[in-house]
Amino acid sequence: MREDCLFCKIIHNKIPAKLVYEDDQVVAFNDISPQAPVHVLIVPREHIETINDLGDANLAGHMVLTAKKIGSMLGISQSGYRLIMNCNEDGGQTVFHIHLHLLGGKRLGELLK
Ligand code: 5GP
Ligand code: ZN
Repeated sequence: MREDCLFCKIIHNKIPAKLVYEDDQVVAFNDISPQAPVHVLIVPREHIETINDLGDANLAGHMVLTAKKIGSMLGISQSGYRLIMNCNEDGGQTVFHIHLHLLGGKRLGELLK
């Protein structure tokens, strides 16, 4: 738990969020500023700042499979969805605790973000 990290605070229930899924490795909750009818963030419990700091292939895979599971739970598997993980300034990362965006429920634009 990093005291100055927004997502660590959400994971430790110090800031409220609409949880959609959790297990021993990840927590998933609705984005506060949704860009689509479904906009869920899949966040590892471990504080990892950027993809550059991610070395655990099992965790990376688990985040993707969790997104698949939540897509199915929320009924967008067949209509489709997009997974995005931003890294640092040029990637548009604003919260420095890695997170996978799950976006769906509408036809998404051509730009990734
Ligand atoms: P990034 O730009 O780092 O890829 O994504 C950060 C995401 O976190 C943004 O989509 C933003 O709307 C979301 N976000 C920022 N602050 C909060 C918050 O306090 N609660 C929730 N649920 N999402 C947040
Ligand atoms: Zn954190």
